[in-house]
Amino acid sequence: MTTHSAHSGQDESPILPASKNPQDFVIATLGSHSALQILKGAKDEGIKTLAICKKGSERPYKAYPVADEIITLDSFDAWDDQLEEELIKRNAIVIPHGSFIAYMGHDRVKKMKTMYYGTKEILEWESDRKKERIWLEKAGLKLPKVYEKPEDIDKPVIVKFHGAGGGFGYFIARTPEQFYEVKNRKYPDQNDFVLQEYVVGVPLYIHYFYSPITKELEILSFDKRYESNADSIGRIKAEDQLAANIHTSYTIVGNIPVVVRESLLPQMFEMGDRVVETSKEICGGKGLFGPFCLETIVTRKLEVLVFEISARIVAGTNPFIEGSPYTALKYDEPMSTGRRLVRDIKQAIEAGRLEDVLG
Ligand code: ADP
Repeated sequence: MTTHSAHSGQDESPILPASKNPQDFVIATLGSHSALQILKGAKDEGIKTLAICKKGSERPYKAYPVADEIITLDSFDAWDDQLEEELIKRNAIVIPHGSFIAYMGHDRVKKMKTMYYGTKEILEWESDRKKERIWLEKAGLKLPKVYEKPEDIDKPVIVKFHGAGGGFGYFIARTPEQFYEVKNRKYPDQNDFVLQEYVVGVPLYIHYFYSPITKELEILSFDKRYESNADSIGRIKAEDQLAANIHTSYTIVGNIPVVVRESLLPQMFEMGDRVVETSKEICGGKGLFGPFCLETIVTRKLEVLVFEISARIVAGTNPFIEGSPYTALKYDEPMSTGRRLVRDIKQAIEAGRLEDVLG
C-alpha cells in the first residue's frame, strides 16, 4: 500500500494515497444522523468502517455491527490535529452528514485535511439563505415568496430564524401585528430571520444523487417528515386545539417513506439536473455532487415549491437502508444513499480518480 500522509502547509492540497484498492481505505463518519446507513453501505461495498462518537452516544454503533472501529471523543471540540493525523494514517475518507456539519461548523470543515467526500465550496451556498435563494432561482426552481420586512406581511408566513436546525422555533404569522406579538414575547433578541410565504400543500423531500464518475443524476427515494407537534395537531378537535393553546412547531422526530405520483417524476429529474448545472456556475470547479435533497411543498395544483436544499445526505434516506422502490428499479441489490455514495468513492479509487470525489 502506498500512502502519503504528508500534509504540510495550510493551503497545500493533500497528497492523495495512490492505491487503487478500495480495501486500503476506511469510510469514517460521526456517530449520529445517518451514520448507521453510511457505515452499513460501506460494509456492503467491502470497505472498512470507522465511527467517531461522542462519549455516551456509542451504543447504537456497537449494537448494530456496522463499525469496524469506534473512536470516542469527549466532545466534538476534541476533533483536533491529533485525530486528523490518526484519520490520515488510516486513509480515512470522511463522509459529511447534517449533524457533522452542524457539530463541526463550516470553518473547521473547510480546514480539515482528512479526505472529505463532497464539495466544500457549496457549503456557503446552502447555509446562507440569500445565496441559497440565488442558486435555486438561477436553476429556475419555483420558490415560496420572501417578504422583505414584517410590515409587508399580507398572508400567512413561516418565520425562520437563522441557524434554527430541525425546524426548531419556527412560527406562523398572518399579520405584522401577529408577527411582532410572538417575536417580541418569545424571541426578543433574535433579529436574524426570514419571512417566507407559508405554502399550503404537502411537504416532500426528494433524495437525489449525482455522480461525477458516471455523470448521471439519480432519484433514489423520497420522504416526508414526522414533526412534533405539526403532525400531532390533527389528532384533536379544532376547539380542543384552541383550548390547549398549542403552537405549531416543526421539530423533526423521524422520517416516513413516500412514493410520488409517477407523472411528477420528469419534472423532478429536470429540477435536479438544473441544480447540479447551476452549482458549477456559482461555485466553479466540480460543483455539487454526491447526495443532495430538495425540500419541497407540493400544492393541490401540483406545483412543486422548493423551500430549501441540503447539499449532502439527509436523514430522510434512513428508511431505505435496504433500498427504495426507485433503487429497486435500477439496481439488482439493496442500494441505500449511503451505499451509493460509497460506491462512487470505490469506483473513483479503482479508476485512479479519487480526487474527483473529494472536496
Ligand atoms: P430545517 O431544514 O432546518 O429542518 P425546514 O426549513 O426544513 O427546517 O422547515 C421545517 C418544516 O417547516 C418543513 O418540514 C415544513 O413542514 C415546514 N415549512 C418550511 N418552509 C415552509 C413553507 N414555505 N411553507 C410551508 N411549510 C414550510
